[in-house]
Amino acid sequence: MRGLIGSIVLSVLAVLSVSAQTLVISAGTVLDGKGGVLKNQLIKISGGRIVSVEPGNTTGDIDLRRFTVMPGWIDTHVHLDWHFGKDGKLARAAGEKPEEVVLYDAENAWLTLQGGFTTVQSVGSQNDVPVRDRINSGSLPGPRILTSVKQLTKDSGDPEALRALVRQLKADGANEIKLFATAGLGSGGAQTMTDTQIQATCSEAKAQGLRSVVHAISDQGVRASVLAGCTSIEHGIFTSDATLELMAEHGTYFDPNFLVLHNYLERLPNFNFTPAVAASLEKGLPPTADVLRRARKYNVKVVLGTDAVAGAHGRNAEEFIYRVKDGGDTPMQALLSSASVAAEALGLGRTIGTVAPGFDADLVAVEGNPLDDITAVRRVIFVMKGGKVYRGPGPL
Ligand SMILES: [Zn+2]
Repeated sequence: MRGLIGSIVLSVLAVLSVSAQTLVISAGTVLDGKGGVLKNQLIKISGGRIVSVEPGNTTGDIDLRRFTVMPGWIDTHVHLDWHFGKDGKLARAAGEKPEEVVLYDAENAWLTLQGGFTTVQSVGSQNDVPVRDRINSGSLPGPRILTSVKQLTKDSGDPEALRALVRQLKADGANEIKLFATAGLGSGGAQTMTDTQIQATCSEAKAQGLRSVVHAISDQGVRASVLAGCTSIEHGIFTSDATLELMAEHGTYFDPNFLVLHNYLERLPNFNFTPAVAASLEKGLPPTADVLRRARKYNVKVVLGTDAVAGAHGRNAEEFIYRVKDGGDTPMQALLSSASVAAEALGLGRTIGTVAPGFDADLVAVEGNPLDDITAVRRVIFVMKGGKVYRGPGPL
């Protein structure tokens, strides 16, 4: 009798452990996302979370002893619904059926996850919303998505209207507010929203518990946004030393982007840019490298965003390589920008971006060690999000 009860207890325990999905990953090298480098570790995962990280060299359920394991990468600036249409040209959502665009959005989310990115901030479109919600419910594979749902510009209204729009976006499920403080690089990048429009948008976002993500090219537009208390500056190509110092003081995050410019330049016919716009994009590369170096000098908190548009989804990791080879980042600086620093910028610093007990089991493994050769980020062999494997080896 005792034996029977004992075996029932054992089988109940077995079911419990299966449902809690406890598994152990053996890792040759772990970059913990906060600057630590650990050798020969066993990462124990249960219920989608990391429960322990301890030295050990035994074979786990998933054997990554030949590889480098990191927190799943975070891209703080993507446009998930941008895609090339059936003619290979950039498709404008207005001319397509929404149900088709949403599928492109989901496809790009899948490509991004396969490329090692387990969290992205899309800045952003309403097409992201159903995709985000289906991914979060576990029914579609993709990275954790944060989206701004819309983008606010100088034409979005006066300060009162902007405040109302921010509240509406929150009600519509936006995770952050995206605003265009300046024109694009191709049209000069001058400040377009007034200081009071920027102040209204970023202060209302803050009051609503939302972050504000600002497209700003010119120094004037960056400065106005930093002074308005906005959360992060995207591009910031022509930011002066004085404004970088101000950003460091205010704790404003900075996200210079290389991949978007290279992606445009490599695919000019698909985007139909005029020669003048193409020339201005090319001219944006050296100052992007320069502003990143200067931002590091002033200890600005730099995050990794790619501004991934059509043609760039799934290739987000190229940003690491540009930042190291052209922008002067050390491999560790570039990797941290996409780990704990990015997580903190998204308000998720306690749940993602770090390999340590209590964090979500979001992991990426690559062949080789990106600290020795940053191009190792192209050799993704394993992706896990929330304890589930989306790219082998391992129990699928
Ligand atoms: Zn963008």
